[in-house]
Amino acid sequence: MAELRSSVTDPGPVADPGQAGGLDPAAAIERARGGDARALGRLLSLVENGAPQLRAVMKTLAPLTGQARVLGLTGSPGVGKSTVTGALVAAYRGQGLRVGVLAIDPSSPFTGGALLGDRVRMQQHATDDGVFIRSMASRGHLGGLAGATPQAVRVLDAAGFDVVLIETVGVGQAEVGIAAMADTTMVIVAPGLGDAIQAAKAGILEIGDVFVVNKSDKPGAQEAVRDLRGMIAMARHGEGDWKPPIVSTTAAAGEGIGDLASQLDEHRAWLDRSGEGERRRRARAREEISVIALAELRARMGGLPGDERIDGLAGRVAAGELDPFAAAEELIAGA
Ligand code: GDP
Repeated sequence: MAELRSSVTDPGPVADPGQAGGLDPAAAIERARGGDARALGRLLSLVENGAPQLRAVMKTLAPLTGQARVLGLTGSPGVGKSTVTGALVAAYRGQGLRVGVLAIDPSSPFTGGALLGDRVRMQQHATDDGVFIRSMASRGHLGGLAGATPQAVRVLDAAGFDVVLIETVGVGQAEVGIAAMADTTMVIVAPGLGDAIQAAKAGILEIGDVFVVNKSDKPGAQEAVRDLRGMIAMARHGEGDWKPPIVSTTAAAGEGIGDLASQLDEHRAWLDRSGEGERRRRARAREEISVIALAELRARMGGLPGDERIDGLAGRVAAGELDPFAAAEELIAGA
């Protein structure tokens, strides 16, 4: 892990947020576009820290965004997400594309342990400046990871990455939201873990555009494909709808990755053809706006114990002088 921290692909978070204070957004973005990993790392630290300069950064980079292909990848721990990610990175590098990877663990506000450990597997890309790998945390970002992640995608997009891979651990509802930030979402399962069934329970099945049964070299792979096929068939797919394909991979040996990349291309073509791509981009922007607006509102109205306004109102509500709806309205009106 220490090795990785010091690699050129991940300069790590800015230790002293004040250090980022002197950052000139336009210059930093220009450097990041030129392949300067350190400048890119500093921009991503601003995102994580929810630094005040973020607003200026986002304004500067807005016209540069909208080019990257955003791919989401989710699944339970151990199914092979990092391995598949690494293999896809290699495939896209083979096409001469620049690839950014954001690894996100929604269950932990301070990502760093497990996921970063897994990054070691991607060391082969550590010296390639066409690849940038970062584990995301949301230190101080008001919108949490749901707010920080789309902004990190914007930074990578503006920095000229052709493909942005968002890897999340499939642990529940949280990653469903994060996966929804991608144009195309891959759901990865592995045989023998009862994973397909778990995926169905957690609502992950609905978000999958492409299903991957990894570890196809292991017993039970065919059963996993069959289970998934059954579950996908139960969902209604109308004329012109996308029917999620199931791709079998042995990512550890690089097998099936070409097939996976073609299915991802197919999905992209469908997104463009059907208008669904545009619809998704808009839905994502709506979500981004509301996360920022809600965080802003919350910050402005206080709303936390110790804040004078809410404490004053709370006293009146507790004493029966004011009803809680009127109090809430007053709080919002004064925000
Ligand atoms: P993650 O936790 O989902 O990111 O999973 P990892 O990519 O870290 O992989 C978990 C373990 O499964 C590692 O020991 C990998 O080497 C192994 N693994 C990954 N892909 C395959 C595969 O296709 N076949 C087999 N047998 N093992 C694999």
